[in-house]
Amino acid sequence: MKLVIAGGCGDCGRNAFYIAGNGHAFILDCGVSTDGLNRIPDFTAEQLEKAEFLFLSHSHKDHSGAIEYVEDMGYTGPVLMSNRTYQQLSYKPKNTMILDSTAPELELLPDVRIKWGLTGHCAGSVWYLIQVGSKRVFYSGDYREGDVFYRCQPIRDITADLAIMEAHLDRGLYAQPMRRQVMDTLFSLMEGGKSVLLPVSLHGRGLSIASALALTPGFDRPIFMSENLWNQWQSLARRHYFVNEEIFNIPLDRFRCWDGKTLEGNGIYFLTDSQLGKAENRQLVDRNPDMPVLLTGPLHGYGQAREYVESGRIHLAVWPNHTSLSEMEEIVRKNTFGKVIPFHNEHMPWHEEMVEF
Ligand SMILES: [Zn+2]
Ligand SMILES: [Zn+2]
Repeated sequence: MKLVIAGGCGDCGRNAFYIAGNGHAFILDCGVSTDGLNRIPDFTAEQLEKAEFLFLSHSHKDHSGAIEYVEDMGYTGPVLMSNRTYQQLSYKPKNTMILDSTAPELELLPDVRIKWGLTGHCAGSVWYLIQVGSKRVFYSGDYREGDVFYRCQPIRDITADLAIMEAHLDRGLYAQPMRRQVMDTLFSLMEGGKSVLLPVSLHGRGLSIASALALTPGFDRPIFMSENLWNQWQSLARRHYFVNEEIFNIPLDRFRCWDGKTLEGNGIYFLTDSQLGKAENRQLVDRNPDMPVLLTGPLHGYGQAREYVESGRIHLAVWPNHTSLSEMEEIVRKNTFGKVIPFHNEHMPWHEEMVEF
């Protein structure tokens, strides 16, 4: 069989892969770039017409942003995804197939079988093991083992001829010290009773960081969340399928719903605008020059967060809801993979466009 890399290797976002052979063809994710240019994957019309399935790992636009484009270019098959991913997508595919959480192993065709599991990156994000005839392909999606909030079904004892593995964070980075750095930075910014603003994305690290704060012994400062994030907290926090056991120790009313504007002293505020793309949120930052702001995710080409970080107005400490190259290599050793293709790392140069396996 062959893998065609349509984006996502040595690239900012644009995660998209085409796999063909043994009489079948399918697509793994179809994202756009996050460099502000919204570049689309390099699929050909012929590939898109031939593909029978599009497997979506999760809703983030670097994995899903080109769904409408691939439909326009001739893809007519089903787009497979979890229920949560479907709820989160702003563009709903014309032909959706929801994965049933009670049946994680299924036969799509007599010689095409899949198995999937939760990746711990955000609500509803999944990995896939796809068997076509005698060949097996593993795709990790965006992956985070051991997150504070999201449950993960770890990648273990899997045998595959090809594994496409997320390695967004650079070699040498590990989750535990990264989390500690975020918490240490946060605690030092709070000194003197200051309120701190944390711009986060709606589906991702916000609930993990808020939970880590709530689970810190003796930490009793009020924690506020934009209404949409607070709604996510309410809908996920008591569902064992999505969250770790210790989340049940956090009272549901530990987090308060926030209007996104009114600040009281002494609070921690989660704002769902990770790149400060909205003018009203930049005004909130500008009107409160003494309020520390902490960014915890990568800086993208869209929004204005980068300018604020470069000017020194806001602080940056990355919370790990991705895997590093070193962590990925450790995961690979716990499985039996033939070829391994790391993706999602712009610092890793990539030259091959086609891989035979
Ligand atoms: Zn993601
Ligand atoms: Zn991603």
